[in-house]
Amino acid sequence: MKRFLLIRGAELVAFLLLAAVPLAVTNPFALGLLTLLAIYGILLIGLDVTVGYLGQVNLAQAAFLGIGAYTAGLLVMKLGVGLLPSLAGAFLLCLVLGSLLALPALRLEGPQFALATLSFLALTTTVLNEWESLTKGAEGLQLNRPPLFDITLNAPGFYWLCLVLLALVWMGMRNLLSSQWGRAFEALRDSPIATDAMGVGTYRHKVIAFAFGSALGGLAGGLYAFNFQYLQPQSFVYELMVILLLGVVLGGRKSLWGACVGAALIVLLPNLLSNRNLFQIFSVIGLVVALGAGTRAWLKKSVRPFQVIAPVAAMGLLALGSFLVSNTEDWRKAIFALMLFAVVVGLPEGLMGWAAGALARLFRVAAAPLPPATDLDLVLPMQALSGHTLLELRDLKRHFGGVKAVDGVSITVRSGHIHGLIGPNGSGKSTAVNVISGLYAPTAGDILLDGKALPRGSLFSVAGAGIARTFQNLQLFGELTALDNVMVALRDTYRTPWPLVLLGLARKEEKQAQAAALALLQLVGLGDQALSKAKDLTYGAQRFLEIARALARKPRLLILDEPAAGLAHPDAVELVKIIKRVHGRGVTMILIEHHMDVVSELCDTVTVLDGGRIIAEGDPEIVKRDPKVVEAYLGAMAAEAPAVDTGASTAPAAA
Ligand code: ADP
Ligand code: MG
Repeated sequence: MKRFLLIRGAELVAFLLLAAVPLAVTNPFALGLLTLLAIYGILLIGLDVTVGYLGQVNLAQAAFLGIGAYTAGLLVMKLGVGLLPSLAGAFLLCLVLGSLLALPALRLEGPQFALATLSFLALTTTVLNEWESLTKGAEGLQLNRPPLFDITLNAPGFYWLCLVLLALVWMGMRNLLSSQWGRAFEALRDSPIATDAMGVGTYRHKVIAFAFGSALGGLAGGLYAFNFQYLQPQSFVYELMVILLLGVVLGGRKSLWGACVGAALIVLLPNLLSNRNLFQIFSVIGLVVALGAGTRAWLKKSVRPFQVIAPVAAMGLLALGSFLVSNTEDWRKAIFALMLFAVVVGLPEGLMGWAAGALARLFRVAAAPLPPATDLDLVLPMQALSGHTLLELRDLKRHFGGVKAVDGVSITVRSGHIHGLIGPNGSGKSTAVNVISGLYAPTAGDILLDGKALPRGSLFSVAGAGIARTFQNLQLFGELTALDNVMVALRDTYRTPWPLVLLGLARKEEKQAQAAALALLQLVGLGDQALSKAKDLTYGAQRFLEIARALARKPRLLILDEPAAGLAHPDAVELVKIIKRVHGRGVTMILIEHHMDVVSELCDTVTVLDGGRIIAEGDPEIVKRDPKVVEAYLGAMAAEAPAVDTGASTAPAAA
């Protein structure tokens, strides 16, 4: 409650203060800056969705600002549309164009995505320039601000409109980001593969996020048009984009406060530059702060030396320059560059990221308490142990060029069984389960789940069919808490349609999801670490968390790819207990495992692969005495890795 009051209270106070300004200040210049702040706030919140949450360098936001501005302006001037409908038009057009750009661009990664968005920006400014019959080109488009429901808006009135819209965007975005949508955005940044394998749909979420961020750019554009009432294509070029990125990074990514602080900074900076004395004071303060904060961090040894030296040097140059240079306007770009450099190195979390850390230390607000865990029977219903054929592989092949990783494998997995898959390193075990789970498409062969063909080559579709998996190389969402990792994967839980999510009407569902995820964490013994970030857990706990996350899918078949790899002895013992517990609920499993005694203890049937082919299959006790198996696998294993004693096993490791 205290936390809720502090956070919501701070938001409320900030907006009330901003709204009260026109009552006290009548200076039109100051009001103009505040209006611009609200507009840029909306724009940067939209940009932060891609840059902050998806972690992609998006260079198209300036284009959407321009498209939104011209759309709203032309709707008013050519068609006589009213103020709110033309803002809605700008929003919707950018939503559509954002999706159209995202569909191909988000198939690309990193630098290629940045270049695709950059081309879109170049294309947009060219079209705005050259389509003179519509936009009047470089001459510029004059427009009038239409009335709002018959009320002619004066400067304070328009400012309040912008502020109300910013508040609505802020609330909607906060609700969206604290729902399963925001979690999915963060998850796919940490591991797109796992996001797909948990049935969330990486690509779909990325496209939606980008389109939504672009639409906010369009809305900001509409307001921009009605604010200046004069539009020129060269306002929406690359230079603006650099300033917008500066705003997001400087303010702090992944933060609504950060976006608005960034907006305030980029609104104020150009004015700061035009007043020499003010700029001198500003840069000296900047230098003192960099020196003070740097020295303190240095004494606490919390940073590396260059993180102190570089920002101090950059701010020093700025301070020196402010006294040497007579016209700071000419040095605009260099000044922005120095500031950006100082912030990126010295304050990588941005101003608000740094402030949030300091505030958290000051107030020490406890995290919101978790609801009691749901009954496990509801989260992971008991499945009947029928023994019928659940999964069938028929002559499955997967070749990589000349490497026949899997070369004609036929396996039948029975419902309720733990089916072991063993074989020396490189024998094709991981490839086989990667093909089943859809990470790779098969080269040939059939995969049937309950007699029906399983989707091929799509993690997302296979996850939808009821198969969940863990990964030999951990694929956790490192920046998310253990609880959030599980919550991302919960199946059949999030039913509230997105418009209601935006309105904040998904809170109850969210609590239910927390309770369900907690039950699964308790099942693997991580109940008391629910709020730790996944990357901060011990290695063993990370392995167990992956199992809990996969179980959130209520899987019909659970594939565990070497869950014991790298585990210390006590963790390996714990793992066996967890697998037994899960099996006790009737979950069918494919278990890839190296240690023969673990396999003997857990598995009903075991298939042995060598060189992509099956060399033995059947009861583990019999298979492990098979001379071919001893030769191909166990001999090699006994030499390199001694079997783990699980404490409960009585089966001797075969030699
Ligand atoms: P295991 O899990 O049994 O140790 P893998 O299935 O990982 O074995 O590998 C089987 C063979 O396939 C190895 O020779 C490996 O180098 C090859 N392989 C696996 N994945 C790929 C890939 N993506 N591209 C090329 N070769 C691969
Ligand atoms: Mg493997």
